Amino acid sequence: MATQPTAAPSKKKTSTMAQRLERLGLVAPADFVVHLPIRYEDETHVQAIAEVHPGLSVQVEGTILSVDVQQRPRRQLHAVIEDESGRLSLRWIHFYPSQIKALAVGRQIRVRGEIRQGFNGLEMVHPKLSNAGAALARALTPVYPTTDGLTQPSLRKCIAQALEQADLRDTLPTALRDELQLMPFQEAIRLLHYPPPDLSYERLFHEGHPAWNRIKFDELLAQQLSLAAARQARRAQKAQPLAARHSALEQQLRASLPFQLTSAQERVVNEIAHDMARDFPMHRLLQGDVGSGKTIVATLAATQAIASGYQVAIMAPTEILAEQHYVKIKAWLDPLGVPLVWLTGSLSAKKKHEAYEALRTGAATLAVGTQALIQEHVQFQRLGLVILDEQHRFGVGQRLELSRKGDKANRSGNTLIPHQLNMSATPIPRTLAMSYFADLDVSAIDELPPGRSPVITKLASDARRPEIMDRVRAEVAQGRQAYWVCPLVEESEALQLQTAIDTHLVLTQALPEVRIGLIHGRQSATEKAQIMDAFRAHELDVLVATTVIEVGVDVANASLMIIEHAERFGLAQLHQLRGRVGRGHIQSVCVLLYQTPLSHIARARLQAMYETTDGFEIARRDLAQRGPGEFMGMRQSGQAVLRFASLDTDAALIEQAQEVAVVLRDQYPNAAAAHMQRWMKGREELLRS
Ligand code: ADP
Ligand code: MG
Repeated sequence: MATQPTAAPSKKKTSTMAQRLERLGLVAPADFVVHLPIRYEDETHVQAIAEVHPGLSVQVEGTILSVDVQQRPRRQLHAVIEDESGRLSLRWIHFYPSQIKALAVGRQIRVRGEIRQGFNGLEMVHPKLSNAGAALARALTPVYPTTDGLTQPSLRKCIAQALEQADLRDTLPTALRDELQLMPFQEAIRLLHYPPPDLSYERLFHEGHPAWNRIKFDELLAQQLSLAAARQARRAQKAQPLAARHSALEQQLRASLPFQLTSAQERVVNEIAHDMARDFPMHRLLQGDVGSGKTIVATLAATQAIASGYQVAIMAPTEILAEQHYVKIKAWLDPLGVPLVWLTGSLSAKKKHEAYEALRTGAATLAVGTQALIQEHVQFQRLGLVILDEQHRFGVGQRLELSRKGDKANRSGNTLIPHQLNMSATPIPRTLAMSYFADLDVSAIDELPPGRSPVITKLASDARRPEIMDRVRAEVAQGRQAYWVCPLVEESEALQLQTAIDTHLVLTQALPEVRIGLIHGRQSATEKAQIMDAFRAHELDVLVATTVIEVGVDVANASLMIIEHAERFGLAQLHQLRGRVGRGHIQSVCVLLYQTPLSHIARARLQAMYETTDGFEIARRDLAQRGPGEFMGMRQSGQAVLRFASLDTDAALIEQAQEVAVVLRDQYPNAAAAHMQRWMKGREELLRS
């Protein structure tokens, strides 16, 4: 029995044409205009079978030599055609009886599809059939992004209609367009929808084709205009000015520090203080390599808010990091009489309740914690400043949540948005900074505190493990401490835990005189805190750890870090881990143990770690190795907003668009509005966050 073809049209829920189009965002004629092909098919000529090769999408014509339904390896329809130059197999996995009929032996047909290397020579799977000798297309055929139930021909028809009705006038004033040497909009659009006959696939797809260039520019310009609008909207929001600069509290904190701020720290403290004193919300990113001293900068900002009579929330992505901030900031501010609370998910219900009360009534002016700070029932009496550490680890939504705590608190009358300071050790690549992050003011701490000597990095194959053990013993004998980081096991958390436990056991047996602790993600927060405290107090010499210590952990006496299976870690992660040592005056060493053979990319990563300790250089290489999409959680956020331009290859266009956006807004506001309407309809929101 013939199985029913799976391709039979199902009668389940039929959506109307309009609904299908709407799924693609196509409603008004103007929407269709910028719905551009993702690729083109070349149906302008027929090739000889002998000329085709795998991977090529082609059209050939030939005479049907044989047709049969094969049963093995599975049921399929198979045919062979022949032209003067050679033979080609055709194969269908799903087929109708009527298709078999159409394939009469001896008939001349034209087939179109992609050539593949089959078991018995070249073949085409599910080719499109037509009559041999039918008229050929005169130009490339556009292929559009589409959706279920919407065929290319019907989509093409809709687009053709829309092009008749839509306003295709150029949104760029002629003078500006000429100066930029851009193709007129209408010309570019028509060319891309209806490529002229003489235009080859290669030419059209070549990166720099003027038509695509115009489209990319337009898209980037819309993005820049929208960012400018978002910036203006933010400036129109209200925030409480936190104007108490150089307060007594700040003076006291500075006087109590065992160090002087570096000039880079002073500069960024000043930039932040200036923002906070204004009546619209600060939206600033504080960038500084690991160990550059961001915590004290954040704490100084906190004192300005507190001295101005407002509360501060500091949120970190992990309990360990949050706890560490809490311990440090408490040591600084508790003696100065600032009431602090600590809030994480693992607190007892009673403790949590106390913390909520303290924040709601304003009894506590500073809260340090994890995501627990953005729980529904957390309320602040008068939240003025929000600080996010390692901000790229939070989702866009979480960032918004915390700042909303502020506008809830101030709902009487004017809605006031708290000031926001984001901190990160991961530098943003330039093109990203110019596009998606353009509404973020950036302060950079570009200098490390004095007296730090860069960590020395050593690469060692796993065979040298005994030597490394000796090194740990020697370091501990000198009163220093070490981290031993266990390998990342991406596939299984349980396995990763097991390796950590095993490593701890092996080290304990090999180094009986050394006090060795173990910390990992499965321990309770209290356990973790106890172990970190013990390590900080030097009651432990060596800390065997999983990547839970990756960010923020700060123990100045730790001078040796061993990372096992370093080849499994990403560059940014290795850099973060290495940043856990070299935080005091002692010369520190980081040993990257690796297992051979190394893949090409792993080798490049280890080499980068060996060659530089500069976070910006590391980020640059990381970007080159991974591509920009991975950065800053971009995959979930606005990435999809750019359909045509690429942050990778269009840096020059981004720069141009940035300049033109300013001119357009200032001198041609109507053109700017028309441009936004054409390109950004309904999509501005994505850029806001
Ligand atoms: P990160 O920027 O990685 O968060 P931290 O704020 O944890 O860095 O600072 C790293 C260490 O350097 C901490 O022990 C901190 O107290 C210390 N530190 C910060 N600023 C200075 C400075 N100006 N001089 C000396 N030590 C400093
Ligand atoms: Mg930090």
